[in-house]
Amino acid sequence: TYKPNSLLYLDGVSVSFDGFKALNSLSFVVEPGELRAIIGPNGAGKTTMMDIITGKTRPDSGEVFFNGTVDLTTKDEADIAQLGIGRKFQKPTVFESHTVWDNLELALNRKRGVFGTLFYKLSGEDKDRIEEILATVRLTHRKDDFGANLSHGQKQWLEIGMLLAQEPQLLLVDEPVAGMTDAETAETAILLREIAKTRSVVVVEHDMGFIRDLGVKVTCLAEGSVLAEGSIDFVSNDPKVIENYLGR
Ligand code: ADP
Repeated sequence: TYKPNSLLYLDGVSVSFDGFKALNSLSFVVEPGELRAIIGPNGAGKTTMMDIITGKTRPDSGEVFFNGTVDLTTKDEADIAQLGIGRKFQKPTVFESHTVWDNLELALNRKRGVFGTLFYKLSGEDKDRIEEILATVRLTHRKDDFGANLSHGQKQWLEIGMLLAQEPQLLLVDEPVAGMTDAETAETAILLREIAKTRSVVVVEHDMGFIRDLGVKVTCLAEGSVLAEGSIDFVSNDPKVIENYLGR
């Protein structure tokens, strides 16, 4: 049973590694255009959940549906990326010896299946899209600078921009603000809210100030399932969340 109107639907998802239940009957639903924050202690299963959604790990049991009817448990990682799920890992992986513009151009070409080349001629529309992404990720003024010369925060934004070039319907973002300055962290909350106007975004973070800035529904995982879900005030006042996560 899936929810036809949900963008992402996980129900009863379990997976064990050597007898250890990393996910224990996890249920998780994301609606189209939703921005959702995931919190929870180390080992809660946050990364494993992302691995299940992106096809890196197969669940032992449970349902995982995308766009209502697409069964993700039958797809591999490349299929799932192609279906429109983008994932940003914690460490930025931009091309340091290429300019910001060229990084975005490479990402756009990758969407077309043209890998590692800048010899594909960009259309006017492509150039407009790159300019639009540059503005979204606050890098217009740095488009001719090399990746290596960006701040840590700007590298994170560039990588988010590279994912946007793939036009995902769902963007999964792992700890984007770790290591960012306070100003970059605050800007990232605004930027992700803007991005979520045209797609769904799920962001895993430990920075509670940032989560509060995001102002969206929060899911707290612990021991492989959902401990609490709701507004940040609701979740952060839940005694189970305080005991398992915030109070530690
Ligand atoms: P989180 O991201 O919330 O910190 P993880 O999903 O990384 O949690 O991990 C959940 C649990 O599953 C941890 O105890 C971790 O050691 C275990 N785990 C995750 N992936 C694997 C794996 N590939 N092999 C063995 N154990 C794993």
